[in-house]
Amino acid sequence: MKKSPVKNLADLIFPSRCIGCSQLGISICSNCRSSWHPHTYFREVSVEGSTYPVISSVQYSPIASRVLLSAKESNIAAADKLLIDAISHSLSYFIKRFGGRTLVAIPSRRSATRKRGRNFLSEITSEAARISENKISFIDTKILIHSRSVKDQSALNSKQRVSNVSGALAVPSNFKPRIGGGNIGPLIIVDDLITTGATLAEAIRALRAAGFEVKGAVTGAFAKPLR
Ligand SMILES: [Zn+2]
Repeated sequence: MKKSPVKNLADLIFPSRCIGCSQLGISICSNCRSSWHPHTYFREVSVEGSTYPVISSVQYSPIASRVLLSAKESNIAAADKLLIDAISHSLSYFIKRFGGRTLVAIPSRRSATRKRGRNFLSEITSEAARISENKISFIDTKILIHSRSVKDQSALNSKQRVSNVSGALAVPSNFKPRIGGGNIGPLIIVDDLITTGATLAEAIRALRAAGFEVKGAVTGAFAKPLR
């Protein structure tokens, strides 16, 4: 296949660099790729006395952080692809072990969506559902919304994260799980990263309060919680 002249020109002006270490060359070098090689990590979050499994694929590292930021804040397609791979890996393990049928993405803060020009996690989640070998669907509407504003979590410790997100998510009243084998659920929640689990716990709480069955959650990466 011939490369189009436009693509060659783009290579000249914007030479490819590794997302992880900025080395010139392919989109992720073999060294960084080994930090983003999917494994299976298991965590649990507890919500109102019940525990829910969370499956993640990649351990958080400086390289993983750059991959996530490249996808989230810079819309770099190769980084999206790495995140989709990681979420898909978590998802196929999750479904085998715990079941679930419908994916729900954690909503981004409105200001973040505006700045990025896209609903980052919805796009990633919808692609993960599309390429899944399991028959799963994705709710491409706002089943989870912020009922009040929340701060960016990255600089917050565990306690601050809990109070930042506690009671912050809600399900609009037009979403009702149909009784008797309805078509929404059981749900699997999707996020790019789990740190303390506070956001996932809040999402589970809100969905359960609206009457949905939630199986647990999958994420691309997991980080050790800050104190
Ligand atoms: Zn690299």
